[in-house]
Amino acid sequence: MHSLTNKIAVVTGGGKGIGRSIALKYASRGADVAVVDTDVLSAESAVSEILALGRKGIAIRADVSSASDVDQIFDQTIETWGKIDILVNNAGISHPLVSIIDFDLDELEKVIGVNYKGVFMCCRRGGREMARQKSGCIINMASVGGLVPIPSVVYSSMKSAVIMLTKVVARDFARFGVRVNGIAPGFVMTTLVKEYIEKGLSDPSGILDFVPMHTFMEPEDIAQVALFLASEESRLITGSIIVADAGFVSEGGWRAFPNNYAAGKKA
Ligand code: NAD
Repeated sequence: MHSLTNKIAVVTGGGKGIGRSIALKYASRGADVAVVDTDVLSAESAVSEILALGRKGIAIRADVSSASDVDQIFDQTIETWGKIDILVNNAGISHPLVSIIDFDLDELEKVIGVNYKGVFMCCRRGGREMARQKSGCIINMASVGGLVPIPSVVYSSMKSAVIMLTKVVARDFARFGVRVNGIAPGFVMTTLVKEYIEKGLSDPSGILDFVPMHTFMEPEDIAQVALFLASEESRLITGSIIVADAGFVSEGGWRAFPNNYAAGKKA
């Protein structure tokens, strides 16, 4: 089940965290993987694990917010393997948790560049290759922050934009037989969330009070969803966003009825 034998995958931000877990999951199911990261050492270390799994891998040092780097990602992948079956637009960055009133404009450009423009440009160039092939699938990494307001003003609004981009591009690319879906993870304890803690999130365990299943998620939890979306088992799923969040998004409405629900008792 969920075989990716002889598929070619590109995973941006594949050196660490969720992206690394996805790259290794894909290799474990038979795919060869181009691991793209600004941090080439982490990409190379992911590739050495891919080789140990008996698959092929290449590490590509590229910044997804640069148009010329994005071209290089796809040029190198096509030169190496002649096709691209799966593109995971996973690279993303955080920023300080401050009010829009205090938000730095250079930071604004940086976050839009990676978290939106990078996804846009990879969908554009990767989509061209897939349209030519008349096959392929794209998975964009959104966030629960793109569905409900959390205090990361640019990150959240760009994740919302990624969700709509996913739906628009899915509609556009259906004519080529190319599927486009997204994943909206909840809180996964990676470098990105640790940076939020350093940048002002004072009590991370407090988040768990609002996660009904009361746990941080593992990169593996998201990799399982990315595996399903890349596999033949999801062949007619396109334009969807899978929320993988241990219940976080469901919490807001529920909390509005604190004293009016007798848990576990019949009405
Ligand atoms: P992470 O910081 O652990 O890993 C991100 C990787 O992307 C790093 O290896 C980093 O070097 C690379 N990267 C950063 N900027 C890049 C760029 N411009 N070009 C290429 N590579 C770049 O982060 P993560 O938690 O694994 O997050 C992965 C994705 O999942 C992001 O899009 C993030 O927004 C999303 N997400 C994460 C969480 C979470 O709780 N961790 C929740 C929701 C969504």
